[in-house]
Amino acid sequence: MPYRSLRGFVLGSSVRRESDRLIHILTREGEVVVASVPGAAKSGSRFALASQPGILCDYVLTLSHDFYYVKEAEVIEAFRNIREDIERLTAAAHILEITKDISVDSVASEEIYPLLGHALARLNRLDSDYRLIVSVFEWRAAAIAGFSPDLSDCDCGEEKPGQAGTFSYDNCRLYCCKSACLTRAGNSIFLSYGAISALRYIDASPVEKIFSFSVSVKVLDEIRRLTRSYLSQRLEKNYSKMDLLQDIPVWNPAETDSVTQNPPDLSP
Ligand SMILES: [Zn+2]
Repeated sequence: MPYRSLRGFVLGSSVRRESDRLIHILTREGEVVVASVPGAAKSGSRFALASQPGILCDYVLTLSHDFYYVKEAEVIEAFRNIREDIERLTAAAHILEITKDISVDSVASEEIYPLLGHALARLNRLDSDYRLIVSVFEWRAAAIAGFSPDLSDCDCGEEKPGQAGTFSYDNCRLYCCKSACLTRAGNSIFLSYGAISALRYIDASPVEKIFSFSVSVKVLDEIRRLTRSYLSQRLEKNYSKMDLLQDIPVWNPAETDSVTQNPPDLSP
């Protein structure tokens, strides 16, 4: 019987034939492998944890009648802090849903693998803000899916450095706030300079550092509105899992628009 060894994240898991589970595994090479996990839905199964969404495991699979079955599984990272917090767990489910949707393309799935790994590792840290992690993930995921936005200065050429602007959903680019440019922007959302700086950082950062910054509540609120709606529009899907948390941040006018982080520099 042919065997296959692989390491990957479980993107999704569903019950199959009462006691088995069917899992989708994303590998480092960008392949999504579907496998059945015998008995995983039974209480006390040795495969119970290895068939949970978001787990990173080493699997040994057997191929039988053109279908993979999990023979052995070793959990590499369980991300236990995520599993013990409803907000982090919901954020992880949202991130996994996006990953699964984007992983239909092999090039995109190879690129999103490290982003998913860093996102889950960050979510697992109790000092991290799950809302920022989700927003960063959404913005970068849209780019990986082929919808990279243009965050260069307004094409009118008259924009002064450090100014607020507007992001056009119609043209997927930034414009300044001159009335003529706002007209050209069409369907758009206002962004402070702090929010623009944060989005540029997410766009340009290596994946290892992409979650290593923090923003004010006001900036977080701005980029959250944009990243969710932009991704949903581009992928033509309403991602609603995060709505369950109803976690609207409180506007705090005492906070500045600045983006603080350690150690990357966002100065223009
Ligand atoms: Zn302009």
